[in-house]
Amino acid sequence: MRTRLPFRQFVLKVQSRCDLACDHCYVYEHADQSWRGKPITMAVETMAQVATRIGEHAKSQGIDRVHAVLHGGEPLLCGPERLSALIHALESGVRGICDLDLHIHTNGVLLDRRLCELFRAHDVKVGISLDGDRAANDRHRRYRDGRSSFDKVARAIELLRTGYPEIYSGLLCTIDVRNDPIAVYNALVSHDPPAIDLLLPHATWDDPPFRAGETDYADWLAAIFDKWLADGRPVPIRTFDSIISTSRGGPALTESLGLEPSDLLVVETDGTFEQADSIKIAFDGAPETGKDVFRHSIDQVAEHEGLAARQRGSDGLSATCRACPVLDSCGGGLFAHRYRTGSGFDNPSVFCADLKKLIEHVERRVSAPRHPVPRAALRSIAAGQGTVAALTVLQRGQRSIRRALIASVRGQAGPSPEWDLLCRIEPAIVDEVFAHPYNRLWAVDRLRDPDRRDDGRLAALACAAAARAGMSATLRVPVTDGAVFLPTVGRYEVPGASETTVEIRDGEITVERAAAVRRVRRLELGGHPLMIEDLDPLRDRHGRPAAGRLTDEQAGHWQAVFGAAWDIVADRCPEYLPTLTGVLSAVVPVVGEPAGSSARNAFGSIALALPPDPETLCVLLLREAQRIKLGGVLDMLDLFEPRASTVSVDTQRLLSDSYARLAVTDFRRRRSQGWSGIEAATDVKATLDSILASGSLTRLGRGFVEEMRRTLDAWSA
Ligand code: SF4
Repeated sequence: MRTRLPFRQFVLKVQSRCDLACDHCYVYEHADQSWRGKPITMAVETMAQVATRIGEHAKSQGIDRVHAVLHGGEPLLCGPERLSALIHALESGVRGICDLDLHIHTNGVLLDRRLCELFRAHDVKVGISLDGDRAANDRHRRYRDGRSSFDKVARAIELLRTGYPEIYSGLLCTIDVRNDPIAVYNALVSHDPPAIDLLLPHATWDDPPFRAGETDYADWLAAIFDKWLADGRPVPIRTFDSIISTSRGGPALTESLGLEPSDLLVVETDGTFEQADSIKIAFDGAPETGKDVFRHSIDQVAEHEGLAARQRGSDGLSATCRACPVLDSCGGGLFAHRYRTGSGFDNPSVFCADLKKLIEHVERRVSAPRHPVPRAALRSIAAGQGTVAALTVLQRGQRSIRRALIASVRGQAGPSPEWDLLCRIEPAIVDEVFAHPYNRLWAVDRLRDPDRRDDGRLAALACAAAARAGMSATLRVPVTDGAVFLPTVGRYEVPGASETTVEIRDGEITVERAAAVRRVRRLELGGHPLMIEDLDPLRDRHGRPAAGRLTDEQAGHWQAVFGAAWDIVADRCPEYLPTLTGVLSAVVPVVGEPAGSSARNAFGSIALALPPDPETLCVLLLREAQRIKLGGVLDMLDLFEPRASTVSVDTQRLLSDSYARLAVTDFRRRRSQGWSGIEAATDVKATLDSILASGSLTRLGRGFVEEMRRTLDAWSA
């Protein structure tokens, strides 16, 4: 017997009790009270049988990877020994049949090092429930006696973030519109989560959600969406990523939105199969299927009418939803939210007005021209080098991103004399100053942490742009670490001051009480000026310690080695010159072994410890320029599926390495007549094949990687 659609996601209830008493919980606080009759903890024998059923299903359906979540109640109440035994039972049951992507979803209060070690040993990813800042979290997430759980949860997240980042999978936040949305967003982002889920509270037409207005939830989420977009989407937020994906014809990324058929099954502590947990809010016994792991296969459970209904796409929806203009993105919302006594689930969501308004808002915001990249330009970049026209497209994209970010900082800070000054300067000149690589990094920092002290960079940018434009102006500028740094101009030492006056007269800069000035130096490389950035306080962000200011003699040596390297590239592989001139604008001297590195939010800058010979420098420059170029592409286009966020961190790194190696292999191939580069090319091809097989690429991403592969095939041939 073949199911309509294989089940790939399993929620495994390993514990039916909880140590908190959150009043918005669907397990204990809503219509279904079946938890009262369930065993407190899942037996290891039951888990072994669960694994057998999953293995059978994977085999019969040809599934090579299943996703399982250890859930509760509170799963950590099982304790480390029982959890270890349950994990072993699950792993051994599916070993050799399919891969297991194992997660645990916890309130975090019991999480400690011992448990983290266990989870790390078994690659169990940990998601934590947190509703925002202390005030937001304490509104619902309390102990039975009313005590706050916030400190323990925050401690657990910090333990994961700092000690076990490889198993920290993200935060799940249940929305309460009485909480300040921006405070909630800032609090969640401050924990550096790899992903955030914003979950609508559970409600039905019989038991509607709290609201003061008609579209409170849309307005609350739209406020966060706008901030998230202005911040440069610093972390995946599934609700938003899903709407963006579906509005561009991609898949839905969450069970609560879109028309993707449900492939999720729940197993209770006693081994009974149930439908999605959220249906518990509808009526007592709502999720039951009448089947269990001991007597029934998963193929048999799939025959259940409730599960089959959730695999019918738009045919399983109400007439109102089927006629809805945002149907593809919404899909009628979460199944449970459609329930009304009498008509069952044949209704739009109780959040219908919110969903429609939010989806339209997101679509409006993201359908604004988003840096289109012509197909020919993308192909030329994917082939390894990139034409001048293609690199111009990347530069335009970066300019637009920088402007948007800096404008958002200004929007956050409010009106100011420096912004007024910038508005009076010719935009092309402002862009030249904004193009300094660390401005984007600065803007992202400011947007992430709006409360941080003003370091005066916006005022410094205004001064630098006014000087470049030959204007006259006077501004008060904060002094940081005893100096004022004017990007693209230099550093003015103002010891002992907290603020100073910068006066610009016909382009000449005077800084009040400046004791010394260190000007930015530039390397001259065949007509291309490359800044030696040894002054910017933000240059220390490449994961390597920045060197101090170069002496004149050292700067002269850098010029000699760079000049020789530039000549080699121009002579041996001139096709890469547009890459070097198009993406490199600054080099940061760092200490340590001769090597280079780039940073995603500092487009145009490489940190480098200078190698002794120009040949090695060519390799370092090409390698990092390629990484920067690919970063520019990723800023503008989705090469990776947002739903593959856990895979894509590794896969993105592999792609970045392979793209860098493409240029380096080409360079070495041309240097040595006797070395064809076939071995290196074969190696890169194998990596590209694994990326293609990972399933984490979008259609565009696959095209990009296939084009890279074609280049390597041509060399091998
Ligand atoms: S917005 Fe409302 S009517 Fe439209 S699909 Fe969603 S729930 Fe149905």
